[in-house]
Amino acid sequence: MPGAAPDSRLSLRDWLSDLAERDLVPDLGTDIGSLVWFRGFAACIALCTLAVWLGPDYRPIPVSQSAAVSGAAWEETRAQSIAPLAWGGDTGRRMAANDLVVPLGSAPERPTIELTATLGQGDGFSRLLQRAGVTGAEAARVSDMIAAVTPVTDIKPGTVMKLVLGRRASPTAPRPLDSLEFRARLDLAVSIRRDAGALALHPTMIAVDRTPLRLTGLVGDSLYRAARAAGAPPQAVETYIRAIGSKLSFATDIGADAKFDLVVERARAETGEVEYGRLLYAGLTRGNRATQLQQWTIGGRTEWFEASGVGERRGGFTQPVAGARQTSGFGMRFHPVLGYSRMHQGVDFGAARGTPIRAVTDGVVVFAGRKGGYGNHIRINHAGNLSTTYSHMNGYAVSSGSRVLQGQIIGYVGTTGLSTGPHLHFETYRNGAVVNPRSVSFLSAPLLEGRELAAFRARLATYQSLPVNGQQE
Ligand SMILES: [Zn+2]
Repeated sequence: MPGAAPDSRLSLRDWLSDLAERDLVPDLGTDIGSLVWFRGFAACIALCTLAVWLGPDYRPIPVSQSAAVSGAAWEETRAQSIAPLAWGGDTGRRMAANDLVVPLGSAPERPTIELTATLGQGDGFSRLLQRAGVTGAEAARVSDMIAAVTPVTDIKPGTVMKLVLGRRASPTAPRPLDSLEFRARLDLAVSIRRDAGALALHPTMIAVDRTPLRLTGLVGDSLYRAARAAGAPPQAVETYIRAIGSKLSFATDIGADAKFDLVVERARAETGEVEYGRLLYAGLTRGNRATQLQQWTIGGRTEWFEASGVGERRGGFTQPVAGARQTSGFGMRFHPVLGYSRMHQGVDFGAARGTPIRAVTDGVVVFAGRKGGYGNHIRINHAGNLSTTYSHMNGYAVSSGSRVLQGQIIGYVGTTGLSTGPHLHFETYRNGAVVNPRSVSFLSAPLLEGRELAAFRARLATYQSLPVNGQQE
């Protein structure tokens, strides 16, 4: 307004519009150094300062706090606190009893205690019962009751026994046995129960099928793995490999296409338990060649027999006097006692009196006694119509008729009969005629004949007719 004096009471609105007109926030990139620029710069600094000054504070906000509990007081507090049950009572403190808590005169007992006990290796049956809390007298009575149905010593280690100990008259008295249950044998379950005050035995027979298990299959990469995969127990497979290995070489004779065939003892209880026993039959087929071995017992010895009835080759020759020097060989010689040359029918072994004399191979003693110039004399018949005699002995360790094994002591070196000093005179006969011991091979294999062979063949046939790999059952 020209001519008018500036109004000293300028309104705020006028002042603000005036300020806006003055452009407080110019572009600071232009007119650097001008008055407008400096004013804009000052306005910028002022606005930044205002923002920082009005910003929030980050110091902790003071609030009211309860006094910290520590040490024993903290444990005391924790015992009273409500905590997850899974933590259990870990303070070792008890809550203080209040008026509702009434002390008991005596704590009630469980009426019965159910236990399981396992018979250990080398453990005793009655010892197990006593360990479980049965009194000595009762354990002895139970042992006697069990012994009536099966020998207590036959109970297998690992057998689990279920016991129930009953109510007792006072907390200091031992608990009586209420019941006992266990599997005494594969085919026998036994339970002892207290009926009307007295223990009574209740044996239960369990049906057991003893049909042997026959398994066949291809050898493939590994006979062991193939037989195990077919279901053969490991011990039977090892026996099989040893038996077949005695006839064939695994490295060269047995290929992947060979077929194994084995029969192993098996007992199956109707309750589901299965026990495996010895290997009974070991067969191996390669193309059209078959090796068949069957276990057979003859003369108290069980061994593998081939399908033809030939047993394991064994024997060879054991020196009749271990480590003795041969003092005279087989042939013509001057006899030191008789004083003229004659045939020496055997071999002499010089040894001290009392040195043991051993059977050179398996056989049966057919003579043991005095025989003229031979003195104390033993004759043994062996397989293959061979016989051996032992003379000038000091004494006998076997008698006529007894079966002897190779290396078994049959007597002792002496100088009985026509003899100049302690030595063994040893002779060998084939078909009753004396022969040079050096010409005789004592390698022998038992041979099944007649009725024995027929029985052997019959058993072999039953094994061959068994269902293969448990099929058709
Ligand atoms: Zn002689």
